[in-house]
Amino acid sequence: DVILASKLNGAGDEVYIEADENNNLKNMSKQKEELNSISAELVGLTKLSYATFQRLCDEANTLFQFNQTIDYEYGLVKISEKANVYVHKLDNLAWCEVDDEDHWARATTIVYPIIKAREGIPHTVKRNILLNPGPATTTDTVKYAQIVEDICPREKEFGETMEFISAELTKFVGNPEKYTTVLFGGSGTAAVESILSSVIDNGTVVIINNGPYGERMCKIAEIYGLNYLEYKSSAEQAIDMNDLEIFIKKISTNVSYLALVHCETSTGLLNDIEQIGKLCAVKNIEMIVDAMSSYAAVPIDMQKMNISYLAASANKNLQGMAGVSFVIANKARLEKTEQIKPRNLYLHLYDQYRYFQMNKQMRFTPPVQTMYALKQAIIETQWEGIEKRYERYSKSWTTLTDGITRLGLTYLVPETHHSKIITSIIEPSHKKYNFDIMHDFFYKQGFTIYPGKIDKLETFRIANIGDITYREIERFLHLLEQYLNGLKGE
Ligand SMILES: *Cc1c(COP(=O)(O)O)cnc(C)c1O
Repeated sequence: DVILASKLNGAGDEVYIEADENNNLKNMSKQKEELNSISAELVGLTKLSYATFQRLCDEANTLFQFNQTIDYEYGLVKISEKANVYVHKLDNLAWCEVDDEDHWARATTIVYPIIKAREGIPHTVKRNILLNPGPATTTDTVKYAQIVEDICPREKEFGETMEFISAELTKFVGNPEKYTTVLFGGSGTAAVESILSSVIDNGTVVIINNGPYGERMCKIAEIYGLNYLEYKSSAEQAIDMNDLEIFIKKISTNVSYLALVHCETSTGLLNDIEQIGKLCAVKNIEMIVDAMSSYAAVPIDMQKMNISYLAASANKNLQGMAGVSFVIANKARLEKTEQIKPRNLYLHLYDQYRYFQMNKQMRFTPPVQTMYALKQAIIETQWEGIEKRYERYSKSWTTLTDGITRLGLTYLVPETHHSKIITSIIEPSHKKYNFDIMHDFFYKQGFTIYPGKIDKLETFRIANIGDITYREIERFLHLLEQYLNGLKGE
């Protein structure tokens, strides 16, 4: 006797299941508060033995004598007191209930494409666990989405694919009436460089540098000869808001822009962009955010956070392929940048935006197959939901940090302002320790780890993004323990 169940989808009107420690049914209800714990959601497919079915009928008949009708969920709960009914939970089941038009829209635009994509996979690809900060581990459906018939990217059909991508990327962080997504072929840095080189006039830009990615923005500003001032802040501690405000106040010219990284991927430090956005609002400063390693995991609301321009890419938390980066811009602000004299051709943001508006095409050849993978990755992100994705990542992160602490290692950046995306771990002090040897040990087992990126500090990095769960992190920890024990033995 078995009930099919799935993880919670939050669609509304679901039946919650309470199961015991052996995964047998204990209770079921649409009212959460009637249950002691919730382990899954009822799908509606149940397989019963004939004997159990008869018991269910007997139960119904008894109540029927008293003129009571029951629903079958209640009947199942009643018989589960006498017989074990196993709750078979599938976390990855693509399904949904269709009760109304919203459900139907979700069924046709998100769930059905995922079912179709899964059906199209000829065989599974060897799964490597990438613990580097992107490109991240992808699903097979994203990998296979790239196998498509050849198409010229100037065809209308491809334009529609790109319009879908642009609109849906915007919706993750803002209202498409006010914000727009401009796509580029290129790695993430292309999007950051596009913003900095295209939207800043002769005014002053303050760039917050609390790690190598902030430093990279300074380097771009330097190359383009922008009027920039670097604000240095600790690589491990949160930005001191008072100090930043005083810094801005002391600048004699008018500060028109402020640029910063959301999650500093070198350390995992998460900058409080909402607080800084408030400061920018008061001072009428346009805020530019490199959200490469936070977008599609850490929830972002561009309007609420007062972000004018945001840069991100396909291959990090979106769990797509490398090769597409994009800028999400406040339309009204972007329109005004038409006046600024272009500093480059390929990365010119306004021209790329305008051309796409007019022609539904990119100005130059897009990475066609990568776009199809991105479309699939977007649908899978919608299916999981950004908050749920961040919950999954956070659970992996807690597993990771608990584990390394247990193994006697420490990591940079306290939890209060940690992104829970990537962790800089202090290298073991053992004299036999060697990053390259450790890397190769993991690599042979299908895990890719990453070196550190902070001067002076001896660290290595573990990212917990991509299509992985805390279970893979547990396997990683198990291997790490083996490696560390090996050091002791020598
Ligand atoms: C990944 C990343 C980038 C972009 O790196 P690319 O190698 O150009 O893709 C930029 N900023 C941050 C914060 C990143 O994490």
